[in-house]
Amino acid sequence: MSDVRNVIIIGSGPAGYTAALYTARASLNPLVFEGAVTAGGALMNTTDVENFPGFQDGIMGPELMDNMRAQAERFGAELVPDDVVAVDLTGAIKTVTDTAGTVHRAKSVIVTTGSQHRKLGLPNEDALSGRGVSWCATCDGFFFKDHDIAVIGGGDTAMEEATFLSRFAKSVTIVHRRDTLRASKAMQDRAFADPKIKFAWDSEVAEVKGEQKLSGLTLRNTKTGELSELPVTGLFIAVGHDPRTELFKGQLELDDEGYLKVEAPSTRTNLTGVFGAGDVVDHTYRQAITAAGTGCSAALDAERFLAALA
Ligand code: FAD
Repeated sequence: MSDVRNVIIIGSGPAGYTAALYTARASLNPLVFEGAVTAGGALMNTTDVENFPGFQDGIMGPELMDNMRAQAERFGAELVPDDVVAVDLTGAIKTVTDTAGTVHRAKSVIVTTGSQHRKLGLPNEDALSGRGVSWCATCDGFFFKDHDIAVIGGGDTAMEEATFLSRFAKSVTIVHRRDTLRASKAMQDRAFADPKIKFAWDSEVAEVKGEQKLSGLTLRNTKTGELSELPVTGLFIAVGHDPRTELFKGQLELDDEGYLKVEAPSTRTNLTGVFGAGDVVDHTYRQAITAAGTGCSAALDAERFLAALA
């Protein structure tokens, strides 16, 4: 059985590494499970990040994450490129099990497992990510000035992305598989009133086209099966996110969409000594800087919790 650590951090995006940096600098010797294949989190899959403060000329996503990792390590964070496969967070001593079956114990746990954007499941989608294909208008809209853009989805997020993108784009086509939207009336009205926004109803994406960059989409009519071409150089996929909370079901309180509930503005969960930060909690902002910010809050919350135990 391992020693009892002060803090274990599960997840290694901006939230996890920031929590690691702060807890390491507070001499809490954090143990960080970074994930087996996706250490570094969502930004490992993107190119330019232009909205993380402090980088005047922008920075590549993987470089930003390597810097965060190295900064946490410099102060003594112990980083393990492995997945956590089981947890027991209910007692005063929490246990976290890795893929080899080793059980790690800690007085506090910070959950920063992020969320996974839903994909269309088409062959070219990942290859063209950051090359015309995006999941975040706030992050990438600026790169699409005067482009023809497609937004996929029919909910509030899709309407919000489309109306935001219409500020930059030459045109925005909302592609929706039905002939009515799921979005709230107010969001629909805004989209309908926008002269740059068009709709491709009863349509789904059959093919994402392009070699080095997105060159267009082939759409399939969901009623007739008929194929048509949509020549766009931007594709924003807004069909939802899945928070990575499977591991915590039955222990940590989750909301209706599966996100971790915290006692905002703190990062405390329903279990004493367990804190949550980043996109696993947040379905509103979903930015690297907000994830890093709440990662900092979780570290400070954990630090105060541990100080009160002593
Ligand atoms: P994540 O970055 O998702 O990290 C979570 C980590 O937890 C992952 O490494 C995962 O492997 C790990 N994990 C999950 N489960 C386990 C487990 N059981 N055991 C161990 N580890 C686990 N935001 C911006 O501000 N600017 C941008 O330009 C920008 N561009 C983006 C481009 C793309 C393509 C994407 C997908 C997102 C972009 N974002 C951008 C959003 C930003 O990446 C996220 O908001 C941010 O990464 C969330 O950080 P996080 O730490 O909460 O989670």
